[in-house]
Amino acid sequence: MQAHIFKILEKKELTKDVFELILERPEGFSFEAGQFFTAKIEDITPPCFRGYSIASGPSKANIELCIKVVEGGRGSNWLNSLKKDDNLTGIGPNGKFTLQNSNKDILIVATGTGIAPFKAMLEEHLKDLSQKVHLVFGVRYVEDIFYKDLLEELAEKHPNFTYDITVSRPEESYEGNKGRVTEILQNYGINNQEVYICGLKDMIDSVSEILKSKGLPEEQIHFEKYD
Ligand SMILES: Cc1cc2nc3c(=O)[nH]c(=O)nc-3n(C[C@H](O)[C@H](O)[C@H](O)COP(=O)(O)OP(=O)(O)OC[C@H]3O[C@@H](n4cnc5c(N)ncnc54)[C@H](O)[C@@H]3O)c2cc1C
Repeated sequence: MQAHIFKILEKKELTKDVFELILERPEGFSFEAGQFFTAKIEDITPPCFRGYSIASGPSKANIELCIKVVEGGRGSNWLNSLKKDDNLTGIGPNGKFTLQNSNKDILIVATGTGIAPFKAMLEEHLKDLSQKVHLVFGVRYVEDIFYKDLLEELAEKHPNFTYDITVSRPEESYEGNKGRVTEILQNYGINNQEVYICGLKDMIDSVSEILKSKGLPEEQIHFEKYD
């Protein structure tokens, strides 16, 4: 695994505590949609290391990351302090969380920044997929929703792609889906799909239990845990 220097081209706020870093892609850095890289956090000595899914596919010119600022978190807060033209050292690519070579329908479950590897996979692969692809994207509050325009655009362009956004703590007046991803999945038809899940451990464990209880073989459940 090789260390590369990534220059920050742009930083965008996606919500009050999620931001996007757009990085120049170093020469020789090749990866597959869904993989992550390990950022060297250099606020103090010794540095520490944190993994971040690459939120853009390999056919894009730049590398995109989408990062949640965790309260009191060393890595995410240091990354949030970086500015355009700063350099970031990253090691990778790492991981095997990529789409399986399968014709089965696909169900994707993401919470928060767990959507990052799926943004890469969808942007990269939807054009080549003919099976149904459905995404369930969960956030806590309505103002935590991001990438909605992108999802809408993908759904318009690819009739086989559909998505649900669900909000676990919405205001009373919210008219969209309410509840956690697990509640959506309790009522969702599981029909031998390949399922991909990304986010925090508790969510992944709960979703996997639901899928298994609905008879989905364990080998069709693929996940990336963020903690
Ligand atoms: C393979 C992999 C890929 C990852 N990709 C991403 C990514 O694309 N975007 C991203 O924001 N994070 C991602 N993470 C999480 C990331 O590595 C850090 O754990 C996170 O940024 C917190 O680090 P910290 O030093 O700020 O906080 P720490 O002090 O290390 O706090 C860690 C705690 O923060 C919480 N936490 C970690 N990640 C998140 C999150 N994304 N949302 C909410 N709470 C969280 C967990 O409870 C965890 O125990 C990934 C982790 C792994 C293992």
